[in-house]
Amino acid sequence: VGELPDYVGWPIFPFEGDLRVKEPLARMATDVAREGEAGRRCRACARADDDYVWVDERWRLTALEKPTALPVAVILETRRHMDLGEFDDDDARELGSMILRLERAIHRVGGIGRVHVNRWGDGGSHFHLWFLARPVGVLELYGFGMPLWYQILPPIDDGVRDANLRTVAEALAVSDRGGRSER
Ligand SMILES: [Zn+2]
Repeated sequence: VGELPDYVGWPIFPFEGDLRVKEPLARMATDVAREGEAGRRCRACARADDDYVWVDERWRLTALEKPTALPVAVILETRRHMDLGEFDDDDARELGSMILRLERAIHRVGGIGRVHVNRWGDGGSHFHLWFLARPVGVLELYGFGMPLWYQILPPIDDGVRDANLRTVAEALAVSDRGGRSER
């Protein structure tokens, strides 16, 4: 077992006290099957449009299920069941454009310091990209502290969360590329 790394002393690391490094598990022969693989159901494919925040013919935007400390926490999915490795040049251009549209739409909420864009894809095989908005001035939510701290700090009010999602959906729907707000 290794020594504790420097980052346990950084403000973005949520824990203090007598920490020990866990014993790593034995390496697996293969990766764990994700949703949509090896007979596992894909929840994204099963969901109806009206369960989303915003949709168009290529993309669907959903909110994280559980409330968090973040003013906006949304996941962009492809409408079609595919993963990043299957994108063609056209899909790639559209994704680049969507990232910028979402960056701008989320900033319309106000008080956003940064929108963290993450591609974690170990849980589901249906392409999804995380857009996690850090409020201005909250040091704990910088960098890799965000996915740890956003489950620890008090969640934002449901009404504020819904209003922020509406702002994002409306900003996307009125942009030149349109799509349909589901809020
Ligand atoms: Zn799917």
